[in-house]
Amino acid sequence: MIIGFGSREHALAWRLAAIDGVDRVCVAPGNAGTRSVAENVPIGLGDTDALLAFAKHENIDLTIVGPTSPLQSGVVDRFRAAGLCILGPTKSASLLETSKAFSKSLMKSAGIPTASWSAFEDSRDACRHLRKQGIESCVVKLDGPGTHGRGVVVCGSQEEAISAVRSFFAKPIPGPGAPRVLIEERLYGSEASFFALTDGRRLVPLMATRDYKRRYDRDEGPNTGGMGAVGPLSEDDLGIAPGKVVEYLERAAHEMRKSGRALNGIIYAGLIATADGVRFLEFNLRFGNPEALVLLPLLDCDLFTVSEACAKGHLHDNSVRFSPGYAAAIMATTQNYVPGEHRDVTLDGASTEGTRAGPHVFHHGTYPLQTTTVASRERVLGVAGTDETLAGALGKVYSRIDQVRFADIHYRRDIGAELLQT
Ligand code: ATP
Repeated sequence: MIIGFGSREHALAWRLAAIDGVDRVCVAPGNAGTRSVAENVPIGLGDTDALLAFAKHENIDLTIVGPTSPLQSGVVDRFRAAGLCILGPTKSASLLETSKAFSKSLMKSAGIPTASWSAFEDSRDACRHLRKQGIESCVVKLDGPGTHGRGVVVCGSQEEAISAVRSFFAKPIPGPGAPRVLIEERLYGSEASFFALTDGRRLVPLMATRDYKRRYDRDEGPNTGGMGAVGPLSEDDLGIAPGKVVEYLERAAHEMRKSGRALNGIIYAGLIATADGVRFLEFNLRFGNPEALVLLPLLDCDLFTVSEACAKGHLHDNSVRFSPGYAAAIMATTQNYVPGEHRDVTLDGASTEGTRAGPHVFHHGTYPLQTTTVASRERVLGVAGTDETLAGALGKVYSRIDQVRFADIHYRRDIGAELLQT
C-alpha cells in the first residue's frame, strides 16, 4: 500500500505494479492516474485508524508513506506497534524534516555546514533583530510542517523580511505549539538534492538531483512544491564529492539514533553550492516530488524488496542499482494558481494518458469526476522520461508535455537548461 495522492505516489505505484510477484498495489487515497496501475482506497492521509484497519484486514505486506503529514501523525509508530511492515520514520524522527529549528540544531551539533540562523517566537523580537543587525538579504522561514516551500520567503531587503515575519506570525500556524520563525543567512549558489536510503544503521546513497522550486522560468516567481527535476547530477554540478555528503548524512543519522529517533526510509538533503563550499539547507524524510519522478524511472532493482529490507533494518550496500543515463521530470500547473484556492480544471483525457513506453504521465492533483478527470491543485501532473543523455531526456519530456491539454496550463520551459550549457 502506498499512502498519498500525488505524482510521487503514482510513480511508486507504477514501479511496484510492474514487479513480478507483487500481485496487488493499493494507493490511499490515490488520484485519477493511480487507478490505471493500482487500486485506489478512499482513505484520507490523516485517518490513521482507517489506514491501519485496512492494512490489517487486507494483509498488506508493505506500506510506503509518500507525503510528510502521515509521518507526523505517527502512522509509522502505529503500524509498527501492530507488527506491520512500513517504510518511513516515526513521529519523533520526522521532526528532522518538520521542524526547521530542530534540523538546524542537529546540523550544528553534528558539525554539518549550514547557513547561520536565529529563531523567534515573537514578531516584534524578530523585527527588532532585523533592524538592530541591519539585515537586508536573508531568508525568513516558518518553523512548521506541511509548508512545501511556501513557508520560506527569500528576501532582498529588510522591508521584505519584516513583512514576511509579520505575515507568518499573523496566520494560524499548522501543528501544535507557538509560532516560530527563523531568520537565516541568505546563501547564493546552485541547488541540489542528495538522496539516500537508511534502515536506521546503514545508509545507502541513491542519487543527486536538481529540482526547480520557483514557479516561472529563470527562477522567478514564488516558491512552489517543485516545477521540475533532473538527475543524476555530476560531482561538478553538485559542487561536493558525493562521499562527503554521505559522511554528513551519516552524521545526521547517527545524531538521530543517539537521541532515540532512529531514521528509516528516505533521507535527502537540500544543498546549495556557495562560493565558500556546499551548505545544507534542509533534510527531508520521504521521496521528493518531483524528484521521485527522476529517481524511480531510473531505478534498476526491485523496489519492493529494497523497501521491505530497509523497513526491516536489513539494507545492504549493494541493494540499490540505477540504469545508466538521465531522467527529467516537468510538472504542469494551472496559471496564476492561488494556494488554497479550489478551482477545478478538466483534463483532456487522451492527452494526459500514460503510455507503456516513452515518457510517463504521472497525475498529481487529479481526481475522477463522473466521466472526466479534474484537477484542483496547483500542480496537476508531471511528465517524466529517461534517455542516454540529459538533452535527450529533456527533449522527450518536453515533446510529451507539449501535447497535454487543460485550461490555463503552465510549465517551465527552462528545466535543466543550465546543465546543458556546461
Ligand atoms: P521543501 O521541503 O518543499 O523543499 P521547505 O519548506 O522545507 O521546502 P527549504 O527547503 O528550507 O523549505 O527552502 C525552500 C527553498 O528556499 C530552497 O530550495 C531554496 O531555494 C530557498 N532557501 C532556503 N534557505 C535558503 C538560504 N539560507 N539561502 C538561500 N535560499 C534559501
